[in-house]
This record gives sequence, C-alpha cells and structure tokens, in this order.
Amino acid sequence: MKIGVLALQGAVREHLTLLEKVGVEAVAVKKQEQLQDLDGLIFPGGESTTMGKLIRKYDLLEPIRDFYRQGKPLFGTCAGLILLANKIEDADEPHLAVMDMTVKRNAFGRQVDSFEAKLPIKGVAEDFHAVFIRAPLITHVGSEVEVLAEVNGEVVAARQGHILCASFHPELTDDARFHQFFVDMVREAVAMR
Ligand code: GLN
Repeated sequence: MKIGVLALQGAVREHLTLLEKVGVEAVAVKKQEQLQDLDGLIFPGGESTTMGKLIRKYDLLEPIRDFYRQGKPLFGTCAGLILLANKIEDADEPHLAVMDMTVKRNAFGRQVDSFEAKLPIKGVAEDFHAVFIRAPLITHVGSEVEVLAEVNGEVVAARQGHILCASFHPELTDDARFHQFFVDMVREAVAMR
C-alpha cells in the first residue's frame, strides 16, 4: 500500500511523518504520473486558493478526479478539506468538488484565529487533540455525508464514502489515530478492487 501527499504547498512533511509512523509507504506528489501507483491521496493544510491554482497549473484537477472515481480514498485537512468541497461560501468556483458539502473559510473569525480542543471523533478517538488554524467550517452536508466531529454544534470532520476530511490538523500532533483511520479506509478500498 502506498499513500501520496499532494506536495504543491502546505504542511506536507507532517503528513508523511505520521503515515510513516503508522507503517505505510508515503510519497510527496507533484505530478499526475505519480498518481498511478498510489492507493490513497492526502491534501494538506496550507492556503486553499493557492493550492487550487497550482492544481490547475500542473494539470492535476481531472487526474485527481479520476483517481477518486476509481474508488481510491482521499483525505483533506483544513485547506485540503476546502479543496474537496462541492461549494465554498462566497467563492465563485469550487476546486475538486468531489464531496457533497458547503464550507466556509476562516470561519472562526479574527479573534479566534487559532485554538485547540479535545474532541470526540466518531470511530477514531474519544479525546483527540485537535489544532485549528484559520480553520474552515462545514456549514452544510449532503445526505451521503456522515458527520464525525463537531465544535459548538458545527461540523469539523466528516466522511462521504471513500472521502475523509477534517477542518483541523491531525498532522500537527504526534497522535496517529486519525491517519490510522484513513489508512484503514485505504486498506478496505484496496481489498475491494
Ligand atoms: N485559511 C486557509 C484557507 O482558507 C486554511 C488554513 C489552514 O490550512 N490551516 O485556505
């Protein structure tokens, strides 16, 4: 099993380190040719507008959508979650538009730019240390989306089939349980191919 981390911008190394910690071969992905021998792909935190532009510039938009259509799992954290959404509030165009949800960028406002919280995450942990940095919120989910975690009644982690996302940064702690959950999704998807 081999999992890629999209490496155009953002917190790439941290994801690679956690994947290695759970014992999975992990590679930084910059080119569409690399997608062929991957079983799953992670979109890191960073700046979603910049990443969206680079995805288009390097002709990765359709290849990543194809990757998804082949049943291969995707996992986005923070800016990576924004890339996955079908709709972004106050934006004309979404990016990959593969997950049936609406997201709001920088949703916690200037006063609380960054904060940390201990969260129960369905199927993952009862006490996950979640780090939020200028985080988005999921303001609407479609019927196929399962909510995995909330903060003050607002959705911050979710799953739709073989797509997983979190508006916080599991890659910025050394707790590998969220990554382990994704790796298990990838393992199931590989077994079904
Ligand atoms: N605010 C960033 C954006 O909207 C996301 C921040 C992050 O990934 N930590 O793209």
